[in-house]
Amino acid sequence: MNHSTSEQLFSRAARSIPGGVNSPVRAFRSVGGNPVFIKRAQGAYLYDADGNRYIDYISSWGPMVLGHAYEPVTQAIQKKVMESTSFGAPTELEIEVAELIKGMVPNVDLIRMVNSGTEACMSALRLARGYTRRNKFIKFEGCYHGHADSFLVKAGSGVATLNIQQVPGITGGVSADTLVAPYNDLQAVEELVATHPDEIAAIIIEPVAGNMGCILPLPGYLEGLRKICDREGILLILDEVMTGFRLARGGAQERLNIDADLVTYGKVIGGGLPVGAFGGRKEIMDKIAPVGNVYQAGTLSGNPIGMIAGYTVLQELNENPFIYTSLENKTVHLENGLRHILEKRSVPHRINRIGSMISLHFCDHDVVDFQTAAAADISLFNRFFHFMLERGIYLPPSAYESWFLSDALTNEDLDATIQGAEEFVAGL
Ligand SMILES: *Cc1c(COP(=O)(O)O)cnc(C)c1O
Repeated sequence: MNHSTSEQLFSRAARSIPGGVNSPVRAFRSVGGNPVFIKRAQGAYLYDADGNRYIDYISSWGPMVLGHAYEPVTQAIQKKVMESTSFGAPTELEIEVAELIKGMVPNVDLIRMVNSGTEACMSALRLARGYTRRNKFIKFEGCYHGHADSFLVKAGSGVATLNIQQVPGITGGVSADTLVAPYNDLQAVEELVATHPDEIAAIIIEPVAGNMGCILPLPGYLEGLRKICDREGILLILDEVMTGFRLARGGAQERLNIDADLVTYGKVIGGGLPVGAFGGRKEIMDKIAPVGNVYQAGTLSGNPIGMIAGYTVLQELNENPFIYTSLENKTVHLENGLRHILEKRSVPHRINRIGSMISLHFCDHDVVDFQTAAAADISLFNRFFHFMLERGIYLPPSAYESWFLSDALTNEDLDATIQGAEEFVAGL
C-alpha cells in the first residue's frame, strides 16, 4: 500500500501542529509508524490521501454508529447551516433534543448541552461537588473521562497508550482530591470510602470501560458501587460518553440495568459533531446556573449544527431499535470469526465484547482491569494493527482502545477482516 502522500502530509503537519495531530491517539505513537491522513469517508469506509480504502473499526472513536456521511445527517446539516450556525440565544431545537433524550433515558429529568465529553465529565464532577459540598472523588485506573485536570490521574486512552505516568501541569492539590481504585475491585472502593468518610462527592466510572480495551463490569460490581453511593451520600456518575446511545437507547444504564445520579454523554450524541451533555435528577441538576449557583456555560453549547446532527442520529436510533440488534449481530459475527481462527492456531487471546464494542487482547488471562490489559502482549497487537492496516482494515492504533462497529459494515467487510486476521495468525 502506498502511503507517500500521508508521509508528506505528516512531516508537513509536524512543522505546525504539535506531533502533527490535534489529539494524541491519532499519532500512531504506540503502534509505531506514521498516521495515514484521511480525506473522506463513506459508510464503513475511510479513504486516505493516497486513495487507499480502509474498513473502519473506530467510527471516529464512537460517534459514527450509523456509518460515515450518513445521508439523513448530511442533509439535515446542509439544510440547517443555511439558517446560520450559532446565535448565542436559545432555540426550539435544543428543547427537541432534550425531550428526545429524556424519552430514551428515563432517569434523566434535566440535561445540559456542552461541546465535548471532557466538558460533560468536568461539569458533572463540579456539580457533584457543589451538590454534596465535598471535594474528593473516586475514579478507576484505566478509565478516561476527558482531559480535565482532575481526571488525568491513572487515566486510560492516550495517557495509557503513551505510557505517561504523571501529567506535568496537574497540581498536587488537584491530584490529592482524585482517589483511584482498580476497575472491578469493590473492596478497594470500600477501603477508600472508609479512609475518607464524608469527603467523597462522587464515584465516576465508565460502566463499560472502553479506554483500556473493552472491559466489562463483573457481575454485581456496578450494583455494589450503587449501594456504596447510597449508603455514603456519594453521587454515582456514569460516564456514558462511549456507551451512551451505543449499547442501547438508554445506554449502559438500560443494558446493564443500573441507575446513575448523573450521566455524561459525548460521541454518538453529536452524530459526528462536537457535542457533549450531562444530565440527571432534577434536584441535582437544579444546582446548575442560572437556577443554582454551580456555574457552567458555553458560547457554542447547543449550537444548531451540532444539535441537528445529534438529533437526526438519536431519532433514528430511538425509532429503529432493531439497529441495536443489527449492530450486535455484526459484532458477534466478528467475535466468533476471530475466536475461531485464534483457537485454531492456538494463539493465546481474550476477546471482550458487549453490544458493538469489542477488543482483542493477546494473552491467556482474563482482562478485567488496567493491570490485566497491560499484561497482554502489546507488541503483538501493534504488529497485528499494522498487518491489518496494510490490508485495508483500520483498527484503533492502540491496544488500549475499544473497537467501535458501525451499522454500515456488511458481512463481507467482517469476513474480510476475519480473513486478514487469519493471514496474520498464519504468519506467526
Ligand atoms: C472520549 C471520552 C471522553 C472525552 O470526550 P471528548 O469529546 O474527547 O472530550 C470522556 N469519557 C469517555 C468514556 C470517553 O470515551
